[in-house]
Amino acid sequence: MTRFQRGWLKLKDTLTAIEKVFLGLAAAGAVFLGVVLIQYFLYPAADYARQADQAFQQAAQLREENEQTRLRLEEEAAAAERDLSDADQETRDLQEQLDAQLQQAQERQDTIQELEEAIAAFDSLPEDILALRTQYGEKIRQLEDMINAGETDVKICYLTFDDGPTNITHQFLEALDELDIYATFFTIGANTAQNMEENLRAEMMGGHTVANHTYSHQYKGNVYSSLESFMEQVKAQDDWVYETTGFHTDIFRFPSGSQYCKFREEAIEALAEAGYGWIDWSANAYDSGTNLPDAATEAANISYQVRTLDIAVVLCHDWNYNTLEAVKQVVPKLEAAGYVFLPLLPQSSTIGNTTSNFG
Ligand SMILES: [Zn+2]
Repeated sequence: MTRFQRGWLKLKDTLTAIEKVFLGLAAAGAVFLGVVLIQYFLYPAADYARQADQAFQQAAQLREENEQTRLRLEEEAAAAERDLSDADQETRDLQEQLDAQLQQAQERQDTIQELEEAIAAFDSLPEDILALRTQYGEKIRQLEDMINAGETDVKICYLTFDDGPTNITHQFLEALDELDIYATFFTIGANTAQNMEENLRAEMMGGHTVANHTYSHQYKGNVYSSLESFMEQVKAQDDWVYETTGFHTDIFRFPSGSQYCKFREEAIEALAEAGYGWIDWSANAYDSGTNLPDAATEAANISYQVRTLDIAVVLCHDWNYNTLEAVKQVVPKLEAAGYVFLPLLPQSSTIGNTTSNFG
């Protein structure tokens, strides 16, 4: 190796050494720089990160608080809305209740008006019925006049039942209803039969005539003891009929017949003054007293007597079962013979006449 070569090599080594030094210096600088970087950048960054983290946590906490506040406010709002809704509902309920009450009040008012009208109609009902009864009586009188003048083949039979209502009066009413005929009941109020009032009303409602036969029917020491006592008994019976049916009586039959009354003329006069017509009978079923006939005999009795008359008034009693059967038997036969069965009315030509041809 030349000197030069050796020198070069030495230089080279030196240069290498210097290079190493520089490299070392560079490395140290880099480390330094890194430390500086860490010192001035990373550390503050961590700090920022901490701060950021704190801020984040604070923000999260605030959000949480906000969320809770929001929820609370929402709940409060919902509650307020519910309260408002409830209040609305209460208002609506009250309104409905008020409407319902007003409706009820109106309906009650309507009902009261209807009832008042019904009462007014009911008040005039007796007058209406009495007006119809008068027309009916006048028509029957026209028919009687035609019969008496020989202008018609029609004949009239007035069935009359005395001394009821009794325990079997309703059976008579059913039979008359079934036969589709009308009759007259000479009633007494002192009976002790069942359903007296009900039967009396049924007689009236059935279109039959309810007539007066005195209240007690006790002639000895009562009905026939004096004119005053007689009229008291007539009035007492009329009171009972009026209280029970709402109608007065205006046709009277003397217990046992007018011939039995010792002050007959005075009694007839007093009856007329009190607005009563009186009547006896022209045919007798002989269904009271002793030796009562059986139904067939009674029917034959009635038929025999009635057929002699164009206008017959038949005395019967609605306590006698045989009479009930006799009526059922004789009515269709007499109808076939031209008789019609009508109720007695005050306009009848038979009223005020002595018609007791057979006692
Ligand atoms: Zn009698």
